[in-house]
Amino acid sequence: MRIVLLGAPGSGKGTQAALLVEQLGVPHISTGVLLRDAMKKGTELGLKAKSIINRGELVPDDIMAGIIEERLSREDVAGGYILDGYPRNLSQARSLDKILERMVKPVDDVIQIDVDAEQTIKRLAKRAKEEGRVDDAEKTVQKRLRVYAEETAPVADYYAERGLLTRVLGDGSKQEVLQRILSLLNIYDIRT
Ligand code: ADP
Repeated sequence: MRIVLLGAPGSGKGTQAALLVEQLGVPHISTGVLLRDAMKKGTELGLKAKSIINRGELVPDDIMAGIIEERLSREDVAGGYILDGYPRNLSQARSLDKILERMVKPVDDVIQIDVDAEQTIKRLAKRAKEEGRVDDAEKTVQKRLRVYAEETAPVADYYAERGLLTRVLGDGSKQEVLQRILSLLNIYDIRT
């Protein structure tokens, strides 16, 4: 089960990834979490990433490829994973393909969570209050949504051309969205 989750900031991608790992028992690989951990620890990567993330821009592709390759080479991914936040542009999609080709373990499914822009802005404003993520400030959110539309949206077409993409509506409750994703993965035996 090697699954890539796509979705705009605020689409609920991280939330669904967390619910899916409970159901599937595979690790959640979130580049956002990896980068924020590095920032908290003040590592070299964290220091480099901080200002970029807080401006709502993308961390350079070569840095991200290194992070992903290292993470995907660990033993816990043998049974698969939920990849959340990568790839975020076409160059990253190609890098991921190369890394996975070397491992002879291609992506099985790509799921895009669709939510309209108005709702994502509302959700991110709420998260800004609750979690205090600097990049959830209104101006930075606008920037992230622009980066998403320009750079990340084409990634969906990349996977659609390869017959790997399924889109799911991200409105409704967390459980409703989870059910939609599980049913498109043909999983009906749900862990409670
Ligand atoms: P969201 O999906 O809500 O934008 P994430 O936690 O996935 O939140 O990402 C937060 C920030 O981390 C991004 O805006 C970006 O600056 C950085 N980031 C995460 N993943 C990547 C990536 N694959 N490439 C470049 N930058 C990334």
